[in-house]
Amino acid sequence: MTRDTILEWLRERDPERLRSLWARADAVRRRAVGDTVHLRGLVEFSNRCARQCLYCGLRAENSGLQRYRMGREEILRCADTADAAGLGTLVLQSGEDPGMTVEWLADVVRQTKARTGLAVTLSVGERAAADLRAWREAGADRYLLRFETSNAALFRTIHPPCAARPAERFTQLRTLRELGYETGSGVMVGIPGQTIADVADDLEAFRRLDLDMIGVGPFVPHPATPLGAAPAAGRAPAGEQVPNTASMACTVVALARLLCPLTNIPSTTALATLTGADGRGAGLRVGANVLMPNITPEPYRGWYEIYPAKSGAARSAEREIAVMRETVLACSRVPGMGRGDAPNYARRAPTALAAGS
Ligand code: SAH
Repeated sequence: MTRDTILEWLRERDPERLRSLWARADAVRRRAVGDTVHLRGLVEFSNRCARQCLYCGLRAENSGLQRYRMGREEILRCADTADAAGLGTLVLQSGEDPGMTVEWLADVVRQTKARTGLAVTLSVGERAAADLRAWREAGADRYLLRFETSNAALFRTIHPPCAARPAERFTQLRTLRELGYETGSGVMVGIPGQTIADVADDLEAFRRLDLDMIGVGPFVPHPATPLGAAPAAGRAPAGEQVPNTASMACTVVALARLLCPLTNIPSTTALATLTGADGRGAGLRVGANVLMPNITPEPYRGWYEIYPAKSGAARSAEREIAVMRETVLACSRVPGMGRGDAPNYARRAPTALAAGS
């Protein structure tokens, strides 16, 4: 697919034509990765964060948030829940928590791997290469780090660099790959100031980076953040600003599937938040093949508020898992019971494994 075609689809507003694109992506999804929808148990284990990202409710300056970091035993109980429910993968996500030591997380990973057969995915933001190596050696399988937008100036604006360290997410993605992680990234769609051309760049970057996982969700304004408090500020010129709608997010998911057929693509919580009743089904029908039931226990799950009214925030872990399975079946698909590694990773595994050893 050429850049011009990508741009045309991103500018397309005719619902009939968009539906034809989404159907094409769904057909490619079926051929390339099949009808199984892989399930990942998501544990949001810490909402402490040193960053000041303009989009995220976890930003350090947000004093209206009850902060927490779960204990090791609490996390391991979640791992047991995921294992017993046949979820296959545990995703450990957090803010950029400076108090979380490399040894502590390595221990959690090691214990999880020792007592379950789960694949472990980390999503804990920007960390030193030595930390990433230690966690890989402890047994971590995958890492998610969205680059959020490939427009470097926009990224610097919405994700101010920490004092000592420039935010180099592309460098970290390369390091993760070299360490043999199954590597995921992604973007938000509809960030104020993000243009159609920027999203075309994002999609081309997905292909160039040869990602194993791609997460795409609409930007959801949070009133306790600078981008949520003044949503009109920083918008790109009329006609160029990407709308933060479910339809646009579906189009970007569909294009990601067409450009990267062998990748694992989740139907994200942010998209479900916008689509309401249809929830996760929307993403599953336009190219996605992964769902991430949130199994974070009470009272923490309500406190991981990256944006308000997060889909499923009020459900128990058990209910969330049941709802996800029902969603998969309602889409005439098959709930996965295994690890669900990305076929893209398997394709390049010999080199990836050599580099990681
Ligand atoms: N601290 C980790 C995990 C962040 S939460 C990291 O930075 O990688 C995971 C993702 O949620 C982020 O990468 C971002 O793309 C998304 N997110 C954050 N705030 C959001 C918002 N207001 N609307 C939509 N998505 C958001």
